[in-house]
Amino acid sequence: MTFQVAITVDVDGESGLPDGGRHLEDRLTARSERLYGIARGVPRILGELARSEVAATFYVPGVVAALHGETVLAIVGGAHEVGHHGHAHRRPDTLTPDEQRADVRAGLEAIAAASGSAPEGYRAPGWELTPATLAAVREGGMTFDSSLMGDDRPYVLPGGGMIELPVHWSLDDAPHFATTADPSGLSAVWQAELRAAAAESRLITYTMHPEIIGRPSRIGVLSRLIEAAHELGAVFVTHGEAARRHRG
Ligand SMILES: [Zn+2]
Repeated sequence: MTFQVAITVDVDGESGLPDGGRHLEDRLTARSERLYGIARGVPRILGELARSEVAATFYVPGVVAALHGETVLAIVGGAHEVGHHGHAHRRPDTLTPDEQRADVRAGLEAIAAASGSAPEGYRAPGWELTPATLAAVREGGMTFDSSLMGDDRPYVLPGGGMIELPVHWSLDDAPHFATTADPSGLSAVWQAELRAAAAESRLITYTMHPEIIGRPSRIGVLSRLIEAAHELGAVFVTHGEAARRHRG
């Protein structure tokens, strides 16, 4: 394997709340923070990626794709990949198997309609993948998942040849900024993980949220990460490309 870095952005929008966005119309503050991510966070991230000439994977829930078509077009226009992040951003483990299948199908249709092509891969809301959702993702023609933590490099999932591109809480901006406003601690952890991935010549996946990393004091974490990765000779990949490389 080669040293590859995947930047992934979960564009949860107003769907990305603990209750899946239900009752959201009354929660103006929570809703406005999510909409900040769409209005300000995504453009700020896209600007940083364009300056650095890095292609990323944006996981978008179907309802967000349907509500914010212009955001999806800006992502596609920047030569980035759009992945499936559920339809209503409800955790699969809170849904019945039938509801899970319906959610995967609805998300596929909404994302394809907004982006112009079917997503190749899936990331479960809350990283809570279930067997029923994984089966629906496979039936929907997707070839990789990015929700599990069973290794720190890509692996093949049992029973059907799907590729897992693993994630971890330490490589996610959300847990860090839930407890502190200090960006330097996250930079230190992410760069230590980056050096380890370089030494082991493997893929590393970072997960960010527009309303979190897209704040003015935090976007520098992404810039410094990209700079450090370039210095270490990383190849930046989308998740679609990472899955193809692992398969090939
Ligand atoms: Zn999410």
